Amino acid sequence: MSGPASYTVTVDRDACDGVFACLVRDPRFVEDDDGLAGIDADDAEAVERTEASVTATFADDRIDDAQQAAEACPLDAITVETAETPGVIDG
Ligand code: SF4
Repeated sequence: MSGPASYTVTVDRDACDGVFACLVRDPRFVEDDDGLAGIDADDAEAVERTEASVTATFADDRIDDAQQAAEACPLDAITVETAETPGVIDG
């Protein structure tokens, strides 16, 4: 059996303007000390923070929530990317 695919969620903190449309779509988005969106790391496999962004890796079945938050963000500050599992290379 294979587990849920892993995916990353990134908040571009330069683009984020603290509108917080994301929070109501996915509670993993949280308001951080700067009044911008951060990511609650409790359920994350890994979190990487820089001044300009926060990226968290998850391996669960909540990618839809993250994608809805990304679509709801008026500033396109959220990116959700799936980690492609290496497959058969077609020739
Ligand atoms: S919806 Fe977008 S701009 Fe608003 S807080 Fe979330 S990431 Fe930032």
